[in-house]
Amino acid sequence: MSPVADYDVVVVGAGPGGAESARTAAAAGLRTLVVEEHPAVGIPSHCTGKLSFHAFEEFDVPRSLAHTAVSAAALYSPGGAVVRVRRPTVDSYAVDRIAFDQWVARRAQEAGAELVTGVRVTEAARVNGTVMVRGARAGRSFEARARVLIDAEGSAPRLLGMLGLAIPRRHALGLQYQMRGVRGVEQDTPEMFFGADVAPGFFAWLMPVGGDTCRIGLAVDPRRTARPPVWYLERLLVRHPAMRGRMAGAVIERKVGGRIPLLTGRAPASADGVLVVGDAAGMVKATSGGGIYYAMTAGGIAGRAAGRYVGGDRTATDAYEHEWRSRIGREVAFTAFGRRAINRMTDRELDAIMRAIAESPRLLAAIAGAGDTQFQSRLFGPLLRGLSVTAVRRPALAPLVLKALMSGMFAQM
Ligand SMILES: Cc1cc2nc3c(=O)[nH]c(=O)nc-3n(C[C@H](O)[C@H](O)[C@H](O)COP(=O)(O)OP(=O)(O)OC[C@H]3O[C@@H](n4cnc5c(N)ncnc54)[C@H](O)[C@@H]3O)c2cc1C
Repeated sequence: MSPVADYDVVVVGAGPGGAESARTAAAAGLRTLVVEEHPAVGIPSHCTGKLSFHAFEEFDVPRSLAHTAVSAAALYSPGGAVVRVRRPTVDSYAVDRIAFDQWVARRAQEAGAELVTGVRVTEAARVNGTVMVRGARAGRSFEARARVLIDAEGSAPRLLGMLGLAIPRRHALGLQYQMRGVRGVEQDTPEMFFGADVAPGFFAWLMPVGGDTCRIGLAVDPRRTARPPVWYLERLLVRHPAMRGRMAGAVIERKVGGRIPLLTGRAPASADGVLVVGDAAGMVKATSGGGIYYAMTAGGIAGRAAGRYVGGDRTATDAYEHEWRSRIGREVAFTAFGRRAINRMTDRELDAIMRAIAESPRLLAAIAGAGDTQFQSRLFGPLLRGLSVTAVRRPALAPLVLKALMSGMFAQM
């Protein structure tokens, strides 16, 4: 006889992916438990908090959680060209990530999910048609069983291997300072800095979060440098031409670090009775590292799939895989394409492409018109067409565009 499960669904991790999974599952009437290792949800935060307007619309996120609204961007090429783009409408907001995570978790609880904090799940196994999780809380052992496990552990999942799923192994290492007293900040304009000297394998950023306070950070690909992110971040602040004159008197209020899954979104995110959401499944934009919206989107799909599975539909886990890929898989794949293309460029080549964009009103208009940082694949056609037209006047550009395309499609990183 099968043992009786304590819950229909156990969710490991109360980040946005886990909490949205739990909210959806509980709203579907499932007995839902969320287990979070930290004593308080959202703390510590390891994030810049840039969140697309799509998330605000789809998940009814209150505007009060936003510090600033973003409708423009300034991208600094390795050689100093600046691509300035402005959209007619808001693209995204910078949120208070701690308050945001707590809001998502509260919604899950309001829908009926039970939240247990301070428990790190260290073991998961299938036992006679249920999934058992085990951990410890204040020195005492903790155990729960459920029909479905939703793994939302974030970028360092420990349980996947125990459940026969692939563990993501590639990560960029991120570090960010929240700094007060930064000069020359435009509230609606985050800045991005590119170059092998600046942030090998990724990029650096400055995100305004109100007044003269900014989140300044970067991530590096450890396969491309042996130096830690702190080396690059300290250097960015004192040496980058677009940064150094603005830092006199600025103070660091907070330092956060974290891992960003890199090019790992192709592995299966489900097995019988197990659904994986968010960073744990590599559901991030490989170009920018953003993953909150995808984690929540997949969380909603997972919560509903869990309901079908508990109702006896054994194909629900496969259907989850299919559904998350049809909603956001294209973006995960396209941004991986973009990351491979960018990473194969030398600084000189990337500089030439960014300079061509910066100097072309047609290309800037294409980006402003089609650019949506949440759905970057929509930019591909207009950008490629614009670059092809520009390459007629600047023949040196053609081989670079071709190289970017080939690298995006075929490069092994
Ligand atoms: C420096 C940096 C900046 C970023 N900036 C942005 C940004 O601006 N915009 C954006 O969209 N994304 C950003 N991201 C990525 C974003 O943080 C993640 O994509 C997002 O948090 C993924 O949500 P998640 O629910 O999958 O995982 P997480 O938010 O990481 O949540 C996982 C939760 O599970 C808990 N947990 C893990 N293992 C266990 C366990 N075994 N037992 C119990 N609990 C466990 C963790 O403590 C955590 O609370 C950034 C990442 C970094 C590192």
